[in-house]
Amino acid sequence: MKFVRYEVNGRSPQVGLVQENHVYDLSAIAPSMQTVIALSADGLAIVQQHAAKVTGIPLAGVKLHAPLLPRRNVMCLGLNYAEHAHESLVAQGQAVALPELPIVFTKATTAVSGPTDPIPFDPQVSDKIDWEVELAVIIGQQGKNIPVEQAMEHVFGYTVLNDISARDLQRQGKQYFKGKSLDGSCPIGPWLVTKDEVPNPHDLNIRCLVNDVEKQSSNTRHMIFDIPATIAYLSRGMTLLPGDIFATGTPDGVGFARTPPEFLQPGDVVTSIVEGIGELRNVVTAV
Ligand code: MG
Repeated sequence: MKFVRYEVNGRSPQVGLVQENHVYDLSAIAPSMQTVIALSADGLAIVQQHAAKVTGIPLAGVKLHAPLLPRRNVMCLGLNYAEHAHESLVAQGQAVALPELPIVFTKATTAVSGPTDPIPFDPQVSDKIDWEVELAVIIGQQGKNIPVEQAMEHVFGYTVLNDISARDLQRQGKQYFKGKSLDGSCPIGPWLVTKDEVPNPHDLNIRCLVNDVEKQSSNTRHMIFDIPATIAYLSRGMTLLPGDIFATGTPDGVGFARTPPEFLQPGDVVTSIVEGIGELRNVVTAV
């Protein structure tokens, strides 16, 4: 199942189910995406039955919003693809060593934006805006100290995320937080895909294009810490909550590590694609 938050005729966003390029209004039974995420398998079946009774609206006629507004910061893995770890460390003149434990930072909730929202560009803040396509995981079932073998039971589903990064701000301090949290720097979507639709999340092609030129192209099989390992790590002594989002890291091909380095400019179109999940299309826009 694919769930969206969508807007039609300027009304406030509502939750819908997407089937065959149409969206089916779920607002009568699901006031928020958190409500959907909290549902059991039986509850999801009821959602599907409800959707079958309402009239679909063509997806092309609605504006999609971020499918989920997380209640706390989006958790992100850093350097979780070996080739990206290599390019990043080389570009910074550091010794190349793969992480022995997951590197986790977060992005502010206010950074989250929709699948076609602009990526704000303010040169007074940063002119080193970079792309990072990622597969994001949505937690369904709350848990703490989750064993690797049970980790996937805690997953609700997946979405596409671009961990847009202000490289100058990211490097200035000891923490990534500020450089990773500018408004509009976390486009997600276009929908949440339930895990049953993704038989193997560790074998999905993942790509990022800038102005239709391919910059990143890899496969989620190259993650260093896979999804169960990450859930086990994050949940050790720390409760994971329904609706938590974590991003699984980006493959190689980011802008700052290219020769010469490349950064986004106003007017650039960033397309983020994860096979079997969906596609984001965000335009860098001067503010
Ligand atoms: Mg990232």
